[in-house]
This record gives sequence, structure tokens and C-alpha cells, in this order.
Amino acid sequence: MKSIDTYKFEGKKAIIRVDFNVPLDENFVVTDATRIKMAIPTIKKVLAEGGSAILMSHLGRPKGVTAKFSLKHIIYKIEELLGAKIKFADDCQTADKQAQELKPGEVLLLENLRFYAEEEGKPRLAEDATETEKAAAKVAVKTNQKEFVKKLASYADCYINDAFGTAHRAHASTALIADYFPADKMFGYIMLNEIKAVDNVMRNSEKPFTAIVGGSKVSTKITIIENLLDKVDNLILGGGMTFTFIAAEGGKIGSSICETEMFDVAKTIVKKAKEKGVKIFLAEDSVVADKFAPDANTKIVDSDKIEDGWQGLDIGPKAIAQFADVIANSKTVLWNGPAGVFEMEAFSAGSKAIAKAIADATTNNGAFSLIGGGDSVACINQFGYADKVCYISTGGGAMLECLEGKVLPGIAAIQK
Ligand code: AMP
Repeated sequence: MKSIDTYKFEGKKAIIRVDFNVPLDENFVVTDATRIKMAIPTIKKVLAEGGSAILMSHLGRPKGVTAKFSLKHIIYKIEELLGAKIKFADDCQTADKQAQELKPGEVLLLENLRFYAEEEGKPRLAEDATETEKAAAKVAVKTNQKEFVKKLASYADCYINDAFGTAHRAHASTALIADYFPADKMFGYIMLNEIKAVDNVMRNSEKPFTAIVGGSKVSTKITIIENLLDKVDNLILGGGMTFTFIAAEGGKIGSSICETEMFDVAKTIVKKAKEKGVKIFLAEDSVVADKFAPDANTKIVDSDKIEDGWQGLDIGPKAIAQFADVIANSKTVLWNGPAGVFEMEAFSAGSKAIAKAIADATTNNGAFSLIGGGDSVACINQFGYADKVCYISTGGGAMLECLEGKVLPGIAAIQK
């Protein structure tokens, strides 16, 4: 495996899988260009070394060629952020000539990969397709996928994967294509930074290591929690899942969100944590509301003494103080999932306090802090602490799978 920092790009064509799946408004204006902005250093590195770049990405979830999902809409934004004009191939499978004619320093953007079913390798079927048709389509798309990948690979001398957001998918452009470049495949800077950040918490964490796992349900976080039990010293559980744990031990949780079918799982987690010497922290008190609404009546009560008709929507002040203290004394902090319904001002104090505690631990205690997962990323941005933590992951689903301990196909394809 080569490194983007030492690879000789001079005179070489690099095909780069980027994640340009950016949001567009009804006039096709890019409303958040973060993903494009973040990929620029990798592209510039190739160009600065005398190479040329062929960019490939998906946009949205088209079911075939769909004008709305054309990557031509974002050309203006790439040019603006790159500070140079780029070329466009309006079909990712017939770009041979444009790729061949690409000169050092030039950039060619391929049209949306997902205009072809072969990118994901999943057949697109009519709803009334018979079982026989389904089986035949499955075989066909897998067969055609080989040609699809081969064509993309034929455009370039080397392959760079810099799309962390799709690294958990074994798609043509994220994994299969790597086989065509056994000695000329590498990660771009986004991928390198994400991998390093995950390594810092999951393999090389400095102790004490505290993970804060929140969100609405235990069921969606169970694999992450189980994986973390082998690594952390402290596990702070927040958000709606708190109440499944409390109810499982016989606490009164009123009408708080609860997964009764997860009681055994919750009990097992607590038992395993004890065996492994991991301290579990559950909110001692909660902000409860008489309805799930921003203008609900609220009060603060012990989390295991919530009256009927009331539901816990945020952690209370005692919990905030305790959690902040644990975080302040940590050397590694991982945050996934909010402590409450942070989207409503009345129930955002807990998540805001956690964001601040993580920022303080980073600044004052030299802790390594990783914010991984969609809603915690939204929290850290919303509360203004984005530049005060060590790393904010760019990939929702991909980061979740890393925290679950899975090896992502996009990473494995480069490393194998
Ligand atoms: P998840 O997608 O599982 O990470 O959950 C994130 C969602 O959990 C956010 O939209 C929060 O509003 C929600 N959430 C957090 N705490 C609670 C709670 N106590 N009750 C209901 N929903 C919650």
C-alpha cells in the first residue's frame, strides 16, 4: 500500500472516490459544501505533484439516470473551492477519451455513479417482479458490475479512496475497484484522519477513557455499547435509552421512552460492565415534561421516580454535574448520541453541558476527543464547540460501524 504523501503522482492519473453527496436546494444551489471543502486537500496534493485527478461520487439515491441528481449541478462549487476550472464526463462509463486526454494539473468529474445499478451491485426491479426475475436480475447486475468496475479502473494509473461516508459499503467505487491497483491504491486525507481518530480511541486510547453514548434507543446502540465495554473505564449513558435501563431495575419512568423487550439486554450490559470493571453512569435526575413539545410544562425529578403522565426528555442538573466531572478527569473522550431532545431548547441543556465538558477536557486536560455520529456532530456544531474538540467525524453510518468494531469494506480494500 502506498501513501498519498510519498506517492509519485507526476504524470499519473489518479481516480479519486470522493463523497460529494451534498445537499442542494430547489434551484440546485449547494446548501452545505463541507464535504467538497474537505476533499480539496487530497485533490490539490495530486495536482501539485504533477498528476491529474478523475473524481467519482454518488449524489442522492437515483433509480437510474435522473437530471435532478446530476453532478453537473455542483461543478460551480468544486471550481469555486478548488480555484480552477474542471471538466465533466456526462456518463461515467464512456469517459475513455476525456480521461485519456486529461493533462497534468487537470480535473475530470464523472457523472453520478449511482445512475448505474452496478455501482451498488443491487438490481433495480419493478415492484411486481417475480422471484425468477429477481434472481436473474441479481446475477445480471453482479456480472455487469465486473465490467463497470473495470471501465472505471481503466481511466487511471492509481486509486485513492477519500469517501469515508461510504466506506462501510462494498460498492464498485468504494471497494471493488481497489483490486485493479494492487500496488497503487491509497487513502486520501479524509480517510487517513478518520482512521487515525478511530485508532486513537478504539486501539491506542490514553486512560481514563470515557464514552458518552446517548440517543433515543438501546436497540440501535447495543453493538456499540458491547464493543466499548472492552475498552472504556467509564460509560455514560444518556438520552432516551436511560429509561430502559432504569425501568429494567424496577424504577418508575412515567411515560418516558422505553423498550421493554430490551430489559434483559440492559441488565446484561450492567452485569458485564461490573465484571469488566467499567463504571456505568446513568442520569440521577431528569428534566421531565407533561408532553413531547417545546412548550410543555417541565420539572426536575429523580430519574427513577417519574410520575405517570410525565416523560424524561433531558438529563437534570445533578447528572450534568456528575457527568461533567467524569469527563473533566478523562484523557480520552468519545461522544455518540445526545443526552436529551436537544432539538428543543427546553431539553437541550444536558447535551450542551456535555459538549462544553468535552471541549474543556480537551483544552484543560489535554484529552483526545472524538465526536462520532450524526446527532452529536449536530450538537457540537449547534452549541459552538466544533473548534474546541480534537476530531469530528464526517461519516455517520461509517463511524457507527467503526465504533461497533466492524472492519469497513472501503478500508479493508485498501489495506489488504
Ligand atoms: P439516535 O438517532 O438514536 O442517536 O437518537 C437521537 C435522537 O434521540 C434525537 O433526535 C433526540 O431528540 C432523541 N432523544 C434524546 N433523548 C431523548 C429522550 N429522553 N426521549 C426521547 N427522545 C430522545
